[in-house]
Amino acid sequence: MNFDFSEQEEEFRKEVRHWLETNLPDDLRGRAFASSRADRDEVRRLRAWQKTMHAAGYVGMDWPREFGGRGASIVEMVILYQEMARAESPQFVNRGGISMLGPTLMKHGTPAQQRRFLPKILTAEELWCQGFSEPNAGSDLANLQTRAEHDDGHFVVNGQKVWTSMAHVADWCFLLVRTSPEAPKHKSISFLLVDMKTPGITVRPLRQITGEAEFNEVFFDNVRVPSEHLVGRLDEGWSVAITTLAYERDLLTFIRHISLRNALHRLVRLVQQQKKSADPIVRQKVASLWTSEQALQLNGYRSLTNILRGGAPGPEGSTSKLFWSQVDQDLAQTATEVIGPYSQIAPGSPWAPDDGQWEFYELLARASGIRAGTSEILRNIHRGDDRRLGEVARRGPGRRQRERRRRHRRRPRVLLGRRRGTHAAG
Ligand SMILES: Cc1cc2nc3c(=O)[nH]c(=O)nc-3n(C[C@H](O)[C@H](O)[C@H](O)COP(=O)(O)OP(=O)(O)OC[C@H]3O[C@@H](n4cnc5c(N)ncnc54)[C@H](O)[C@@H]3O)c2cc1C
Repeated sequence: MNFDFSEQEEEFRKEVRHWLETNLPDDLRGRAFASSRADRDEVRRLRAWQKTMHAAGYVGMDWPREFGGRGASIVEMVILYQEMARAESPQFVNRGGISMLGPTLMKHGTPAQQRRFLPKILTAEELWCQGFSEPNAGSDLANLQTRAEHDDGHFVVNGQKVWTSMAHVADWCFLLVRTSPEAPKHKSISFLLVDMKTPGITVRPLRQITGEAEFNEVFFDNVRVPSEHLVGRLDEGWSVAITTLAYERDLLTFIRHISLRNALHRLVRLVQQQKKSADPIVRQKVASLWTSEQALQLNGYRSLTNILRGGAPGPEGSTSKLFWSQVDQDLAQTATEVIGPYSQIAPGSPWAPDDGQWEFYELLARASGIRAGTSEILRNIHRGDDRRLGEVARRGPGRRQRERRRRHRRRPRVLLGRRRGTHAAG
């Protein structure tokens, strides 16, 4: 990859930087590195922020024009995320909609579904949550038990989901259900779009170690979902879900990178404030984090290069997710050591550095190795991928792979999912 940005791209960087400096509200600036989506007021402010960014043309920039984007290059997306991190802007509140459901609907949705749902994802008028995990279906997602039966132009849904982030504020949910219980487990799942206001849905918050309740249990009791809200074919929802999960690991990790960079810049300031910048151990740790962050970024570029050449999300997505979670936890740990006992003081106290965001960050980072695929599962995937990659390295790309690349070159530049695998949500 060529690491130099073109003149036009540098121009774009200037434009975004100026726009963010002028428009980012003070009450959102700098609160980005340890924010949750539990608080309804915060979510309202974040919705308004996404709407403002959309009006300026910065949301879903890489989406094709026909779907409301501006067909921007992936490099411009990188620049946008870098500048959002620099300005300490929060991530988009509807990130599940933008980075997972949107591309899934572009690939598997009907034109009517695309017209109905895509525009309101971009404006955050409709927030989405992901209803995949269940009490007995996390890593083994295909084991899910929530049932949906056909009845007079509707599916009738019964069952339970768990760990559903933002279900308490979401307007819609993309939901996996079992539609043919007697068929093999990967061939009996369907993908539904469910209005969270439908009678029969109960959302119960689950309190996390951070003290907040960002995720929830969701119960479905005879919930009627119109048949036109089925995405893809009946019983073929597994392949639709795989598209969603591939995007989750690739694009979402790239976006999560914004928070990580924000936190790293804050850590450097914190070290200076605490007068620890001469401490050789602290210096070494910060340098190591800085290098890791750069490695993460370069790995992100590697997937983007592949995508620019017409490929699909590859093993880099899982590598990045695994590595991101380790760096995230190391960063939280280093900050805790630098601050010392004060790191345990929660937000609201004058004694809490950076208004207690570090205490929150340290606790939230525990989840990084679980959400979007646990570290153990990602390592399993790598072992599989390593074997496959070794083969490809020996033989070079096969006929099918060359053909796929050629086909992708002709398509709009949205990422295309392909990997079968274990679950990743959140
Ligand atoms: C903050 C957060 C937000 C989330 N948000 C959402 C959301 O919005 N929507 C959603 O659907 N889900 C969400 N999740 C759920 C998340 O996807 C699951 O927690 C995750 O997939 C793991 O599933 P599980 O919790 O059932 O654990 P299990 O799958 O039961 O795993 C338990 C332990 O066993 C290990 N393990 C399991 N199988 C294997 C194996 N084959 N080999 C080696 N080790 C294994 C796991 O690594 C883990 O350590 C969220 C989770 C978190 C933490």
